[in-house]
Amino acid sequence: MRVELIAHTPDPDRVVAAAARVSRSRRSGLDLYEDMDEETVRRIINLILEMGHMSVLEHASFTFSISGVSRVLTHQLVRHRFASYTQQSQRVIKVKEPEYVTPPSISANPEALEIFRRHMEASWKTYRKLMALGVPKEDARFVLPQAVKTSIVVTMNARELWHFFSLRTCMHAQWEIRALAWRMLSLVKKVAPITFEKAGPPCFRGFCPEGDEECPLYPGKTVRYARE
Ligand SMILES: Cc1cc2nc3c(=O)[nH]c(=O)nc-3n(C[C@H](O)[C@H](O)[C@H](O)COP(=O)(O)OP(=O)(O)OC[C@H]3O[C@@H](n4cnc5c(N)ncnc54)[C@H](O)[C@@H]3O)c2cc1C
Repeated sequence: MRVELIAHTPDPDRVVAAAARVSRSRRSGLDLYEDMDEETVRRIINLILEMGHMSVLEHASFTFSISGVSRVLTHQLVRHRFASYTQQSQRVIKVKEPEYVTPPSISANPEALEIFRRHMEASWKTYRKLMALGVPKEDARFVLPQAVKTSIVVTMNARELWHFFSLRTCMHAQWEIRALAWRMLSLVKKVAPITFEKAGPPCFRGFCPEGDEECPLYPGKTVRYARE
């Protein structure tokens, strides 16, 4: 999996804090943006997060390049509606060789791995055969497995990212999208450290909506981060 933050709102923390201050000030957003020390930015953002006034987070936007992930992952990712997506087209791009993601549970089991590998090879053989018979790529792709690798560009604002991280960094999320969510979180923390300081699974904020006391991250237990 390759995940990169390719673009973002310049100084996202300051933009979010300036937007928040506009609602209680006679000054313009630009004045407030330019006239704020670091401490004020931190204080304002912490206040809006505490109050749950999340709409101001929508002013900061982040664009990620994600590749080497399965269509299992992207199918889950695109369920998040407040985002923009552009994905590699299987109508245009021929997936010439078997390019797929192998789940760790399969890699760890030699017999399962062999069955999986044979199935992948067979799928691609059928795919190529169909195209050799004149079937267009857009129809031949019906035989490709969900494990097929893909790439996608995703843009989300900070509010949607907060929501995405709450759901997808949780131990209840599927392992591949969970790994992606943790990587995206670590990337945005570098450029918007205040906005995303407390982002992550709800248990990091002391509450488990799943009520799962067996989970290694359940609040109060020894924290054992399972980021991959
Ligand atoms: C652990 C896990 C298991 C899952 N299992 C399944 C499954 O078995 N089957 C399945 O189909 N999906 C499943 N999902 C996907 C899930 O149901 C959501 O589709 C997905 O997580 C997107 O989240 P969302 O709808 O909250 O948010 P987004 O689309 O990211 O939207 C953000 C928020 O905006 C608001 N919103 C968005 N659209 C509307 C709207 N039309 N009306 C009102 N409010 C709106 C909601 O408050 C929503 O939470 C699973 C997700 C997780 C994390």
